[in-house]
Amino acid sequence: MSRIYNDSFVFCSSADAPPDVTAIDFNQVYPLASLHFCPNCQTPKSPIQYSYNIESKFCSNCLADHSVSSASFCSKNCFDCPSCGTILTITISDHNGQGKSFNFKCPYCTFIYKTNVIEKPKSLHTIIRLERKDNPDKKHALFRQIQTRLAEPNKSSKEINQRQLENLSLGKKETEKIDDFDVQESDKDISDIANLENILSSTFPTISSTTKLFPKTHRLSSKVSKKCLACNTILQMPALIPNSPTVYKFSSKFNAVDYLPTLKIADAPTNILNIDEQYNIVLNIINPLQTKMTVSLASPAQLPANCVYPASNSKFTISIPLTKFTIGNAVSKNILKGIPTSILTSNTAVSRSEKSKRIGESALAVDQFDVDKLVQKGANWYSVPIALTIETGSCSDIEHEIKIPLYIKINSDIPDNLLSVSRREKLALGYWNIVTLGKYRIIE
Ligand SMILES: [Zn+2]
Ligand SMILES: [Zn+2]
Ligand SMILES: [Zn+2]
Repeated sequence: MSRIYNDSFVFCSSADAPPDVTAIDFNQVYPLASLHFCPNCQTPKSPIQYSYNIESKFCSNCLADHSVSSASFCSKNCFDCPSCGTILTITISDHNGQGKSFNFKCPYCTFIYKTNVIEKPKSLHTIIRLERKDNPDKKHALFRQIQTRLAEPNKSSKEINQRQLENLSLGKKETEKIDDFDVQESDKDISDIANLENILSSTFPTISSTTKLFPKTHRLSSKVSKKCLACNTILQMPALIPNSPTVYKFSSKFNAVDYLPTLKIADAPTNILNIDEQYNIVLNIINPLQTKMTVSLASPAQLPANCVYPASNSKFTISIPLTKFTIGNAVSKNILKGIPTSILTSNTAVSRSEKSKRIGESALAVDQFDVDKLVQKGANWYSVPIALTIETGSCSDIEHEIKIPLYIKINSDIPDNLLSVSRREKLALGYWNIVTLGKYRIIE
């Protein structure tokens, strides 16, 4: 299912009972397409609700298998450009039989690195490591300075931190000699920002910007399995095909988008909402299953405060005239039939002809205020209206982001591919789906 049709943001909670709408934590609301689905718990699963395990590790450059090692970098001669991350090409120069040097060159940017002349055989990793030790890059130099400072016996880190905190406290105008850091006599007032930089740079002296960059070891790629934290059911297992590390197939994978309906808003107002006006928004619900699905929709009669940001003193009421319906199963032959009319594009000839055919079929259904006629249905989708009204409130120049929370209950026969992993005979669950309407100014 394409993400472009996806307004389905699902609240994932580890609590057993569905929470009250005002208790929805928007930090735990995820796009449907990014979620897994546990066939045993029958709930969508966010990244904090499953465990990970690395099933295989390999180098995407030399394709060597590193599954049994604990390394996170390729131990072969694979190095990345420190500037742009491209794999470096490596050539060897011979120095009249006295030794060899290695030349690293980035095929994409201007990075070049030449090693010293090496007389005894060593691995490239050892050569780079020793040369970096003698001429550390910024990060390693800073790390070493911190390490040295912390190890100083007569100037404990606690003492330094305490002194820094005292000196950096805002509003402290009183001058004070910061002798720990050898600040010049004239630079006593730490409220001056330039002076502050002096203090900090004397604590950790500025590292020369001319420090060399070194080839970076190439990070390994991995294939991971995921298991539900609640019941240990496998949510994703990569297929480990011998000698084909880069083939990314799965022996099992349960994505929420394959089991939960996709929601898509259409005909939403743009930019401005008028007080006392009713807006009919079309909510399209698309069934991804090969079996028919019964859907129940519920929403709070009034938008809770956490769904309008920044907060507004307006009262937003919502009503959904049709709240329970059965949607047919997914169509695999004609993709166009699976697209609700309100989001069917007019950009291609086939979709234009499909659209005019559907409009012709519903030519009589033109009365916008007849609820039955506002409801449309297709092979595997339903379009239902949501009426949004702003009953009271005051005009506001700032834009408010409006979200509509919908509690969705679905019920269907268990899909065939869940039969072997699920102990239940039905697919039945309820969850909060949050639809973002847009950003609006409220006017009278
Ligand atoms: Zn589970
Ligand atoms: Zn490699
Ligand atoms: Zn580069």
